[in-house]
Amino acid sequence: MSKAELLEEVERLSFFIKSTMDLAYQWEDKGDNIFISENLVKMLGLPGQWVKRDDLFATVHPDDQVRYRDTIVSHFKNHRNRVVVEFRALDANGSYRWVNENGVASRDANNRAVRYVATLTDISPRKLAEAGLLESNAHLLAIMENTSSPITLKNTKGEYVLVNDIFCISRGVTRHEVIGKTAFDIYPEDFAETIAAQDEAVIKSKTSVTYEQNLLEADGKTHTFLSDRFPIFSADDELIGVGSLNTDITERKQMEAALRESEKEMRLLAATDPLTGARNRRSFFDIGNRELARSNRYNRPLSLLMIDIDHFKKFNDTYGHAAGDLVLKNFADECIRTLREQDTLGRLGGEEFGVILPEIDLDRAKVTAERLRQNLMDLETMADGKTLKFTVSIGIGQCAADDVTIDRALGQADNALYTAKDNGRNRVSV
Ligand code: GH3
Ligand code: MG
Ligand code: MG
Repeated sequence: MSKAELLEEVERLSFFIKSTMDLAYQWEDKGDNIFISENLVKMLGLPGQWVKRDDLFATVHPDDQVRYRDTIVSHFKNHRNRVVVEFRALDANGSYRWVNENGVASRDANNRAVRYVATLTDISPRKLAEAGLLESNAHLLAIMENTSSPITLKNTKGEYVLVNDIFCISRGVTRHEVIGKTAFDIYPEDFAETIAAQDEAVIKSKTSVTYEQNLLEADGKTHTFLSDRFPIFSADDELIGVGSLNTDITERKQMEAALRESEKEMRLLAATDPLTGARNRRSFFDIGNRELARSNRYNRPLSLLMIDIDHFKKFNDTYGHAAGDLVLKNFADECIRTLREQDTLGRLGGEEFGVILPEIDLDRAKVTAERLRQNLMDLETMADGKTLKFTVSIGIGQCAADDVTIDRALGQADNALYTAKDNGRNRVSV
């Protein structure tokens, strides 16, 4: 090879190396100097392309130096392996970057390493992404394991990919028994079918859906859950699964039911006369007007009774107010026993009561009133060792199709009651 040809060959190789090996260096057995590529000079902020071995080594992060040196030395001794090592290198800006070094030594006839060439790749972006991924994984786990709500993530085949501890505890299963399995492996078939259908709805609609469901838990009790199902999308917006976040609302439901029950009781209490247990005046009119509207809508009869105890003033004067109260209580109990369940007894005044008789026409109202009068007349009240008896007078009123309230019919019953009183009491009048 002529000198010109040799120079051209050197030129060609040098250009090839410059353009292909972005970050590279070469060490030769002959000396302490290392030749490094222009880009590596720039990246590390070194004074020139020839540097001392120790100066290059000094750019390796102190925590990585031992591992780095061991890898290179081991390679020099053991010629089978290439060097592949990741470490941090101090860059021109004074911050560490992760680099991957890939190198190989060439050897003489005695297998001694005489030259070493390495290329370096800046892997900081990848390392950062990995660190970010680890961190967001840690965030996700922290959320999953610190909530009291069972959480599951399934793939589109319905196989569990991720579940939290509380899910395993509440279902009485281990992670091992769940991951890779479907709802059919851990739930009774009909419940698994429900879950599968709900997940399918999420997959089809690609939107979140909330379900309420009852489930027998590992504690042997049936719990009510609010199950929020949501689609999971990949980075490319492809649907890859269904998540579920399940809130145990058993206690809330029980409290709501208890509240509804006590509200009902309180409403009833507020509508009831405390002495007799009959409806109070306001409640009596509410029910009466509702029954009137209904009877008019279906063209059905509606009758009203007014009942007043005879000579009650005298009764009180003779036996005392307490005995009078006892009689009033007994009176109301007897009325309720005699009347049907759909009838309503209301205390309209002191010892004046009204009765609403739905579906009852005048003739049947007369029969009912007469039966009431008889039963009340036969009623015996024991007070202070005495047997007390009383009679009542009853007036009957009939609601008409054009009545809007029961007031008119009640007035009619009241008039009839006066007629009964006028005619000698202990009788029924129309
Ligand atoms: P009449 O046959 O005309 O009805 O005679 P009466 O004495 O019953 O007259 P009236 O119906 O006007 O009397 C009402 C009496 O009822 C007045 C009061 O002493 C008595 N009374 C009203 N409320 C109560 C109560 O809550 N307890 C008791 N013990 N007595 C009551
Ligand atoms: Mg009276
Ligand atoms: Mg009266």
